[in-house]
Amino acid sequence: MTRRLLAIGLVAAVTTTILVAALAGCGGGDPADRRLLMVGIDAAEWAVIRPLLEEGRMPNLQRLIDSGVSCGLRSLEPKQKSPVIWTTIATGKNPEKHGISDYIDPTSKKILTSNVRTARTFWDILGEEGKTVTVIGWLVSWPAEAVNGYMVTDYFRFGQKPGRELPEDLTYPEELLTEIEPLRITSDMLTDEEIARFVSPDAALTRDEARELPMDELFVEMRAIDALERTIAPLRDFHAGDRTFLRVAKHLIREHPTDVCIVYLRGVDSVCHKFWAAAHRGEVGIPISHTDARVFGETVDLYYEYADEMLGELVEAYGDGATVIVCSDHGFEGPKPGKKPGGINEHGPVGVLIAAGDGFRSGVEVGEANVRDVTPTILALYGLPVANDMDGEVFEEAFEPGYLARHGARNIPSYERMDRRTE
Ligand SMILES: [Zn+2]
Repeated sequence: MTRRLLAIGLVAAVTTTILVAALAGCGGGDPADRRLLMVGIDAAEWAVIRPLLEEGRMPNLQRLIDSGVSCGLRSLEPKQKSPVIWTTIATGKNPEKHGISDYIDPTSKKILTSNVRTARTFWDILGEEGKTVTVIGWLVSWPAEAVNGYMVTDYFRFGQKPGRELPEDLTYPEELLTEIEPLRITSDMLTDEEIARFVSPDAALTRDEARELPMDELFVEMRAIDALERTIAPLRDFHAGDRTFLRVAKHLIREHPTDVCIVYLRGVDSVCHKFWAAAHRGEVGIPISHTDARVFGETVDLYYEYADEMLGELVEAYGDGATVIVCSDHGFEGPKPGKKPGGINEHGPVGVLIAAGDGFRSGVEVGEANVRDVTPTILALYGLPVANDMDGEVFEEAFEPGYLARHGARNIPSYERMDRRTE
């Protein structure tokens, strides 16, 4: 080789090195090394979150919004129940492909279980790619499936009740159950102080005050005063569920760290169904007592503050440098005049998506994604191909310019194992 050619070769090599280093700098290095924390908050709604952010009451979410990309996440249409939507989030597929249509099978009346699902989840795909995964509390995850890591199913939170056996397969591996059993928090373990942060029972009207009300309000008021304890009781249950999964998540992150950790939290949805009307007296088409408005008027906002605390604790436990995705299955609008209160009638059409970490754009709000897009987007984040039989797409707007060009993979026909249904 002549000296001139050698020099050109050297320049080319140095340039390549600089280029590779520069790309690694702005693209987040090897996507395969990424650690991902995903927190699913059922029913999280921007219309509730935005005013709380403005008041500085959700500082942990604020940090993720500032450092990541955020948008609305459109739910399935027509409206579906939460297990259906969360399964779409986990598979990138519409309900007719993933097989989970409800909580209960409409014909057999049996609860729908993970083995009814006919599509693979993103944690299954990532696990097969060598990522270790932890999945905690996800809807329709019981019985626990074998994963490349740990699975704590949604049924884990229900404590042993007298005369009723706990179902088997609450966790994978099964031995994990003995280790985490002591972490379960049941409603009777919560102190009054732990519940008092969400409600103001002392603000209830006294019976004498109630007797001053006009006749049409008196009955509603007296009933609310009588029911006060019974109205608070479910809050204990919702809170115990979230506290249990938070505690299990922090334990597993500390004792058995994995590349991917997925935590589902149900409390916000339950609290909204129960207490939304109290904060919207006069707007919801049902009579709300002064007592409920006073005692529970702040409960939804206060529970969102708690959800933010849980998020902060999970992010801190998982450690710096991780990618964090927060999403919800639908928004929340509350009961509406003329519509039957409760259930999916109260859900809103658009939930939330926030994604922060290398590869995602930083500090920008972008257009709307769809619940079907979550799995393809996570696969793209890892530089893995999206399957043509998925109904969602990579949410390209979320990524830094050039990221997908550098790490994107060609689509594949399917991740499904053709023998799965006949197994
Ligand atoms: Zn709901």
